[in-house]
Amino acid sequence: MKLVLIGIQGSGKSTQGNILSHLFKIPYLSTGHIFREIAKEKTTLGRYMKETINAGILVPDHKTIEIVNSYLSRPEYKRGYILDGFPRTLKQAHEFSNNVDKVVYLRIPDKEALWRLMNRHQNRSDETLPALKKRIELFHKFTEPVVEFYEKQGKLIELDGTKSIHEVQREILENLGKQLVKNQIKEWKQKKKSIIALVGLPGAGKSEAASYFIKKKLPVISFGKIINDYIDEHKLGHTEEVHKKVREELRIKHGKEALAVLNEKKIQESFKKNNIVIIDGMRSWEEYLYLKKHLKKIQVYILALHASKHLRYERSAKRNYRAKLFGEVRDINELIGTNMGPTIAFADFLIKNNFSIDDLHDKLEEVYRQVYFS
Ligand code: AMP
Repeated sequence: MKLVLIGIQGSGKSTQGNILSHLFKIPYLSTGHIFREIAKEKTTLGRYMKETINAGILVPDHKTIEIVNSYLSRPEYKRGYILDGFPRTLKQAHEFSNNVDKVVYLRIPDKEALWRLMNRHQNRSDETLPALKKRIELFHKFTEPVVEFYEKQGKLIELDGTKSIHEVQREILENLGKQLVKNQIKEWKQKKKSIIALVGLPGAGKSEAASYFIKKKLPVISFGKIINDYIDEHKLGHTEEVHKKVREELRIKHGKEALAVLNEKKIQESFKKNNIVIIDGMRSWEEYLYLKKHLKKIQVYILALHASKHLRYERSAKRNYRAKLFGEVRDINELIGTNMGPTIAFADFLIKNNFSIDDLHDKLEEVYRQVYFS
């Protein structure tokens, strides 16, 4: 495995690098460490390195690349390695010819980094406050583009580096699809079949969540599609009155669990090829109970989305499709009429969706992982 660790100084790269090196039995290589060793030499290069490092500035790209390549061509790096401190600039990333499997970015706030470094007692001559500030500044300028570079390649694992050493280590392994069992690295295998049922009032973000999961190539079954299609087909128009009428007709026929009954086959079908299936817009408590009862051995998780009322109404009004379908009457009909209320209260996960799309995506990813690894 070829791993790269990225993060500002003090983010825990060398701590995690050493743990991972030990676990995967592959060498850990820190350019900072190499350069500090060279700096001890009483040669022109040694003196040059010493000055460069102590000033907190970067060693020029060509020199860095040359040194890293000569190290990595040694036989002990054949099976893989963990790199810390390299690539640090876009040029280094572009010119780095060795393959990289994953890049772990340990994110911590600048202030936290300064605090950690000022309290570290390693006596490194490059850890004066001005040199540290300079290095953090250089990170934002030169290394953040490297993070983006790997993100675009789908190789980035971005983690909150302020968590405990143990937690960060566990999350890195989890993201690599591994886990530690009795100190042995094991592949993660997802065994359980699970449903993630999205619930929430109009405008809370169910559709956005559904598209997030579609992008992850998970099957998304929209419960309401049967109703929407019926209304579109018969050109009835999407008003709350029409929806209520169609909903109730189906319920007279199939009970309050109507949409679960009508979608059951489709769900079973999706599980033939997938271990996680998303249900968009599960409506009633009865549908939930029906799924639990009839889909044996499948874990049903409810993911409730919540957003403040004014935000929900603003968002709903902006929709192209079904733009008129929101308001207090609709809310109350959903909560009490369709009996959605209990599903929201009983949810396994709750996401507050008052913020940015990116924030929502991060939270969805977290839920997905919890379900995946449960
Ligand atoms: P570090 O221990 O990773 O913080 O590195 C200490 C110092 O070594 C840095 O402040 C730079 O002067 C130098 N250095 C380490 N890695 C690189 C790199 N990839 N490119 C340029 N300079 C580097």
